[in-house]
Amino acid sequence: MKGLKLAVENKAKNIIKVKDAVIGGSELVLMAGPCAVESKEQLLLTAQALKELGVKILRGGAFKPRTSPYSFLGLGQQGLELLKEVADDTGMAVVTEVMDPNEVQLVAEYADILQIGSRNMQNFPLLQAVGKINKPILLKRGLAATLSEWLFAAEYILAAGNNQIILCERGIRTFETYTRNTVDLSIVPIIQSKTSFPIIVDPSHATGIRELVLPVSKGAVAIGADGLMIEVHPNPAEALCDGEQSLTPTEFAELLKEIKPICAAVGKTIS
Ligand code: PEP
Ligand code: MN
Repeated sequence: MKGLKLAVENKAKNIIKVKDAVIGGSELVLMAGPCAVESKEQLLLTAQALKELGVKILRGGAFKPRTSPYSFLGLGQQGLELLKEVADDTGMAVVTEVMDPNEVQLVAEYADILQIGSRNMQNFPLLQAVGKINKPILLKRGLAATLSEWLFAAEYILAAGNNQIILCERGIRTFETYTRNTVDLSIVPIIQSKTSFPIIVDPSHATGIRELVLPVSKGAVAIGADGLMIEVHPNPAEALCDGEQSLTPTEFAELLKEIKPICAAVGKTIS
C-alpha cells in the first residue's frame, strides 16, 4: 500500500505478551467483560466468572464514547481504579479505552492494554500519544475505515515509536442496518498476509445482537483470527451500556464450548 513504511515492513507475526496472555501466538486470546465498568460488584462478578473459564484479559470501559451526551459516559478514574483492583484480585490483565491524549498517562497507570475505540481511530494526536508509551495498543477499526486508512492509523503509532499493536475488526458501517455494523471477516487474512499485527474480532459491536455473537465468533475463529473481544455482563437486562449485545457468563461459557472444536481444526489452543 503506497505510503506505508512501517506497517507493512515486517511480515513475521508480532507476538505480544501481556501478563499470562500471548497475543498473536498459537493460543486464541480471549478479551471479555462488560461494555462499561458500572460498580465493583458488577465487575468482580463478571471477572471471577471469566477467570474460571480461562479468560486472561478483562475488558471494561471507564471512559465511554457514547453517541448521546446524556447516556452513561463511564466512571472515569474510579472505573480505572476498579479495573485494576479486580484485575489484581483475579490475576487478569486489563484492556480499557482511552479517548483523550491528555489521559494516556493516567490510563496507562491502570491498564495493561490501551484501547483506541472505533470513533477515535483517526484521532491523530491520540494515536501519537499512545505511540509514545511502552504498552500494547488495541486499535479498533474505524466505523467506516478502509483497510488503508486503518493501516495508516497504525502507522501513526508505529512512527511515534510503539510497535506493540493489536488490530480489532468490530464491523463497519454499510447500507445494512439490521445489524449494528457489518462484520468484515475477510479483513483478517488480509491483515495477516500484509502486516505483522495480530488481529482479533469483536462480534459484540460488530453485530449488536446477542444471538449473533456465537455464529460470528465461530466464523472469526475459523478464518484464523488471533482472538475475540466479547461483551459479558452478569445481568444484561440491567446493563448501563450495550446490554442487548452482552452475553451472560453462562452464555459465554457455552460459546467457549462451541468454538473449541473450531480452534482445534485451525490449530489453535484455547484455555
Ligand atoms: C468498546 O469496545 O467499548 C467500544 C466502544 O467499541 P467500538 O469502539 O468498537 O465501538
Ligand atoms: Mn460496548
